Amino acid sequence: MTIHFLNGFTCNTNFPGNWRCGTLELLVETDQGLLLVDTGLGTHDYVHHSGILKLFRLIMDVPLDPDEAAIRQVIRLGYKPQDVNHIVLTHMHFDHCGGLPDFPWARVHVYRKEYEAFTGRWRQWRTWAYDHSHIAHGPEWVFYDDTGEKWFDFNAIRLPFIPEMWLLPMPGHTPGQCGVAIKTNSGWLFQTSDAAALFNDKAPDWLIRFGLGPYQPRILQFASTHPDVQVVSGHMWLDFFEKRVL
Ligand SMILES: [Zn+2]
Repeated sequence: MTIHFLNGFTCNTNFPGNWRCGTLELLVETDQGLLLVDTGLGTHDYVHHSGILKLFRLIMDVPLDPDEAAIRQVIRLGYKPQDVNHIVLTHMHFDHCGGLPDFPWARVHVYRKEYEAFTGRWRQWRTWAYDHSHIAHGPEWVFYDDTGEKWFDFNAIRLPFIPEMWLLPMPGHTPGQCGVAIKTNSGWLFQTSDAAALFNDKAPDWLIRFGLGPYQPRILQFASTHPDVQVVSGHMWLDFFEKRVL
């Protein structure tokens, strides 16, 4: 079992800090072929810049390198794109699911509340970063609802794959934001996505709570008491991505 850590969207900032960040996606070898957890931007995002991407380019330092598209990274790693049979989404902001149209054959697994927020008419600032063109190709969806199960003490929904994998609803950043936990050879990998900014000890608490929701303190506490669980977040420093394989 191999998990590759891919950077699907470099997004640097000059304010409030000089941060050099990538957007984490996972490429996982499962019993049902390759599985992506989030996709980063897709190839069409580099050709047609959406309104939200134009806004990001105004306020952030976004290099927009098309080689960061997941499909190109899958090929560079020696896999066939058609072997990506499944995509699990932590949430549906443009920087996490832009690559969906590059894998139109893949089944897309998502927490139902996130899909409903994406497709709902009611707009709020947390949903501005949805780009509806990302699902215009009509993917085959697999929706998940709460089941009352737990992974450690987090609400959890079992995903139907080996290695063992859980979807962990942690709403706040978006109405259906989820983490994903994957059993590894040495313990667990816990991708908290945009429920936490673990890499960034420089961001003020109020900014994290405002942008990412209430889960960061709990996740930090969990990480400090569970050394066998590798905890990562949806945006990591750029040097995190160098030759990262589990
Ligand atoms: Zn997000």
